[in-house]
Amino acid sequence: MQLPVLPSPASSNKHSTASANTPLTDNYGRPITYLRLAVTDRCNLRCVYCMPENMRFLPTKELLTNEEMMRLVEVSAALGVRKVRLTGGEPFVRQGIMDLLWRISETKGIEEVHITTNGVLTAQYVPELKRMGIASVNLSMDSFDAGRFFELTRRNEFAAVQNSFEMLIESGIPLSVNAVVMEGNNTDDVIAMCEKTRTQNFTMRFIEEMPFNGGTHELPTIVWDYKKILASIQAAYPNLERVGRSNHATAELYRVPDYAGQIGIIAGFSRTFCGACNRIRITAKGTLKTCLYDNGVLDLKALLRSGASNEEVSTAIADCVQHRFRDGIEAERHTHTSAAFDSMSEIGG
Ligand code: SAM
Ligand code: SF4
Repeated sequence: MQLPVLPSPASSNKHSTASANTPLTDNYGRPITYLRLAVTDRCNLRCVYCMPENMRFLPTKELLTNEEMMRLVEVSAALGVRKVRLTGGEPFVRQGIMDLLWRISETKGIEEVHITTNGVLTAQYVPELKRMGIASVNLSMDSFDAGRFFELTRRNEFAAVQNSFEMLIESGIPLSVNAVVMEGNNTDDVIAMCEKTRTQNFTMRFIEEMPFNGGTHELPTIVWDYKKILASIQAAYPNLERVGRSNHATAELYRVPDYAGQIGIIAGFSRTFCGACNRIRITAKGTLKTCLYDNGVLDLKALLRSGASNEEVSTAIADCVQHRFRDGIEAERHTHTSAAFDSMSEIGG
């Protein structure tokens, strides 16, 4: 069978196969245990760093079906993936999302299911997410100020998102709030957002802006990188303590002594964490990415729709994992289009 493999220039010299207890490792010896699955590219917000106002979404037939996603989760689990995160687009605008979450959480081998959401529709699902035993929720909220929230998301949904935040806090589900730090937009809010962790137990994470905005603006460099974000937080909290980074995590964690929550910084533009990267991504249109910054290395949707068996799909994924880029800088060097033309809503973040 001819596999619809997309071009990837990285070469492999090591090979590893997964078994029940040993996950697949890549050509640099990194275990692959984490799958991020973008269940749709559609969204009910229009965040300025993610997509243009007139974003053109994929036709439904270009999206993976729930059955196709389940096959890919099962194949990934057999290869050693233990953690799955559903993302998008906005996962909760996809019909049947709760059914998909339950099925993934019951899949043999999958130990943790997580979700990243913008919070517009999330509140109503919090009790069910809790019952399911979801491992964590990442809630995107770039400001706790209603006016700034509107400027950044172009939609009047602050009250709904704030309600989801409060429901999630009350539920006790481990919660991270993600804020993309954008020069000239929400940098004045950073300390106010940190201050929320004084009494509330969640992780307030600041993300460097990355160049995936659906072509709205080029992003050759950023002013607010992780060093500047950290310096501004340290200036407000001279006693800030470094907690560190947990295994394979992208966030460097800090805490203010005696505060209930934590503060995290994610160097998504600077890419300081690639050496421990354990993740693969499946985009909303069913493309496998072994690095956020690559162009996509395998058309999984075409492979599934060509009648491939699970074994063939598994072999194809394992082969791509043997040809990963060393890091996001190398991956970006090999991409032929500007990353800024892609929207994070299709990739899944
Ligand atoms: N719609 C959901 C949400 O916003 O949480 C899930 C999808 S969103 C693409 C996933 C994450 O990517 C969010 O935390 C969002 O803030 C982040 N993101 C989107 N575009 C980004 C960009 N250009 N740079 C950095 N992070 C970005
Ligand atoms: Fe939608 Fe999330 Fe992108 Fe914002 S970041 S436009 S909520 S997909």
